[in-house]
Amino acid sequence: MAKLYFFYGAMNSGKTTRILQCNYNYEEQGMRSIIMKPATDTKGQDKIVSRIGATKKVDYLISKDENIFDLVINEYGHVDLILVDEAQFLTTRQVNQLMDIVVDLDIPVMCYGLRTDFKGNDFPGSRRLLAISHELTEIKTICECGKKAMFNVRLVNGKVATEGESVAIDGEGVSYTVACSKCFKMKTRKKFDHPTTTYE
Ligand SMILES: [Zn+2]
Repeated sequence: MAKLYFFYGAMNSGKTTRILQCNYNYEEQGMRSIIMKPATDTKGQDKIVSRIGATKKVDYLISKDENIFDLVINEYGHVDLILVDEAQFLTTRQVNQLMDIVVDLDIPVMCYGLRTDFKGNDFPGSRRLLAISHELTEIKTICECGKKAMFNVRLVNGKVATEGESVAIDGEGVSYTVACSKCFKMKTRKKFDHPTTTYE
């Protein structure tokens, strides 16, 4: 039976590299895998870009109101694997559609994404994936203090930013680093008992 997988981690944990490797492995075996990504992420536009420099054009950019189940049936027919990059930007409904693809079409779906944004708030896509995926795998990366990094810190011109839109992609003076819970709290002066999540 096919499964829905969610591989989650902080930024720069090597998620995209894994997608490219997985895609390559399938193709090498003569199997068909497609790579999708929500259109919200403008980094590399229709490409996925890994930290180690490898890039690949995605097969499909998913818009906010796309029905992914219908898309796969109408446009792709049978595929052996669906890979989704930046899955945190999916809507709750789209994650449910991925689950329908797994259950009804018996196609495995592997989603890769962030758990939280730079304010420590959850994303709708990841929240739903954490709730219903058959398998959850954390991709670990390290904070500068040596502990496991769980959070993303946004830097604007080298300074820690605590305000701004959830989606702001690298460039224009914006960059990201990762932090453990303690360093995240120290750097952002965030109080975890003051939730500010406002997603639908
Ligand atoms: Zn730390």
